[in-house]
Amino acid sequence: MTKKTYDFAVVGAGVFGAWTAHFLRRSGASVALLDAYGPANSRASSGGETRVIRMGYGPDELYTRWAMRSLPLWREFATRSGQEIFRQTGVLWLSNNSDAYLQSLCGVLEQVGVEREELKANEIALRWPQLRLPDVTWGVLEPASGLLLARNAVQLLVKELVAGGVNYIPLSATAPSGSSKLKEIHGTGGEPISAGTFVFCCGPWLPKIFPELLGDRIFTTRQEVFFLGAPSGSADFRPPKMPVWLHRTHSDLPYALPDIDGRGFKIAFDRHGERFDPDTGMRVVAESSVDRLREYLRQHVPALERAPILEIRVCQYENTWNGDFLIDRHPELENVWIAGGGSGHGFKHGPALGKYLSERILHGARGEPRFSLAAKQTAQHRAVY
Ligand SMILES: Cc1cc2nc3c(=O)[nH]c(=O)nc-3n(C[C@H](O)[C@H](O)[C@H](O)COP(=O)(O)OP(=O)(O)OC[C@H]3O[C@@H](n4cnc5c(N)ncnc54)[C@H](O)[C@@H]3O)c2cc1C
Repeated sequence: MTKKTYDFAVVGAGVFGAWTAHFLRRSGASVALLDAYGPANSRASSGGETRVIRMGYGPDELYTRWAMRSLPLWREFATRSGQEIFRQTGVLWLSNNSDAYLQSLCGVLEQVGVEREELKANEIALRWPQLRLPDVTWGVLEPASGLLLARNAVQLLVKELVAGGVNYIPLSATAPSGSSKLKEIHGTGGEPISAGTFVFCCGPWLPKIFPELLGDRIFTTRQEVFFLGAPSGSADFRPPKMPVWLHRTHSDLPYALPDIDGRGFKIAFDRHGERFDPDTGMRVVAESSVDRLREYLRQHVPALERAPILEIRVCQYENTWNGDFLIDRHPELENVWIAGGGSGHGFKHGPALGKYLSERILHGARGEPRFSLAAKQTAQHRAVY
């Protein structure tokens, strides 16, 4: 029996790989989707319980437009799957009058027609008395934004892909070698996979797979997430009383997501942590992290200062130098594409990224220079938030 050659092999079944496989398959092509640990597994960046979907990106209209493109695709998928993977909780930006990012954000949302509500400090205090924010003088609410049930959504999407003819294969792919054209990928745990084109969507593993190319261009950082138990019987930390919020005036960049389906009120700091290995890193936290969280809660969310920690997750961001995604063809292997560098904000954009990448691969669509490999520098200077 002759071995099958797929049109496309997508390596990595996180949010980027799954949506890329979706759009490639929709073109009628044969697609294999491979993953070393499983779709949205606990090591993957897409493996978290929830992810924020917001339209605001300060002055950065490109990502606002991508988020706007993605939200209806997430909503359509939610309808198709019959699962509430998107929750319209609202997203509340909390800042002060000298925050140029938030001022630009309002300008961009106005220009592109995204609904928003601007709120003064006293209005914020009245609507969300759970929060104590003496450093906040104004806020912006995106009422149509919210959160995505991340792990659930990716796993459902992969199920849909399989039902639609994509061949999901558990395989840990080894780094591709050779020059000009890749014929097949080898791996531990299965037969080699042959394809016309290969797409590597391996998130924080990309620097391991392409060490020479990306070893100093993707910085993988440890990020800790806490789920807290609200007081018994309290609805104060669930929707509709609690939106997603981002506290921009605090130096650690705290953000929080309401308690969804009883999993707990989620809170984390967006500041980059230490370097982290996605395969071997231990996903436990130090006492000092808990102390820092308690101190923040004492000052800003007093009802939860002593709340029990229901769950802690340690995940990783796969940051490019400035936070722009990496979506480009391999510089030497003409039939190999790379997509990653989600940089702590990529999940929401999965549908837009899958569409963009498949159009580049299938129709030779023009590439956005910011996503190119050439634009990726080796010194970190975060610019996309
Ligand atoms: C704590 C935290 C909070 C975040 N919050 C938000 C948020 O609120 N909103 C938002 O939009 N984004 C957020 N993000 C970012 C977002 O989650 C990521 O940008 C996104 O999930 C990246 O997806 P990915 O598909 O590139 O990578 P991953 O999800 O990591 O997927 C990569 C996959 O590749 C597989 N793989 C790796 N190597 C191999 C190999 N050799 N062979 C086969 N398979 C392989 C892995 O097993 C994995 O499944 C957050 C991230 C973290 C960590």
